[in-house]
Amino acid sequence: MENETVLEVRERDGLLIHQGVIRVPYTWAAGAVASKFYTGLRDRKIYGVRCPRCRHVLVPPKKTCHRCFSHLSEWVEVSHEGTLQTFTVVHYHEPELHPLKAPFAYGIIRLDGADTGMTHLIGEATLKALKEGMKMKAVFKEKPEGNYLDIQYFKPVKGAK
Ligand SMILES: [Zn+2]
Repeated sequence: MENETVLEVRERDGLLIHQGVIRVPYTWAAGAVASKFYTGLRDRKIYGVRCPRCRHVLVPPKKTCHRCFSHLSEWVEVSHEGTLQTFTVVHYHEPELHPLKAPFAYGIIRLDGADTGMTHLIGEATLKALKEGMKMKAVFKEKPEGNYLDIQYFKPVKGAK
């Protein structure tokens, strides 16, 4: 089968056990909200949506406000810079799960102009120097193509506290 790779065949209790990987081709329609967000990233802009009722700006955008359940449709561009709200350092290497080699960090960054944080990778940082409240800046990849990883990672803003 062309979508299957058998990694190992072993025998246990008279039975053969095949361990492998099955690749599943798929097509995914991002939907109106994610399409606008990803199109923005492709153009190196980060968009959120402002709630008409509670005025919170959600980044990444959602169709419905998680606070007051209002329908969201007012798009606002937010800054490429924000504040590191929290982070975790990954110490184990698992290439099937993580896009970077350990050790590295994931953070939640609340961009200036937004009221929610976005989870992303942290790069160009000394892991032991990471602190909640640090100013961070989005680093876009060279040729954005319209997905979440158009932002490669967030890096600390030099000279900022
Ligand atoms: Zn709301």
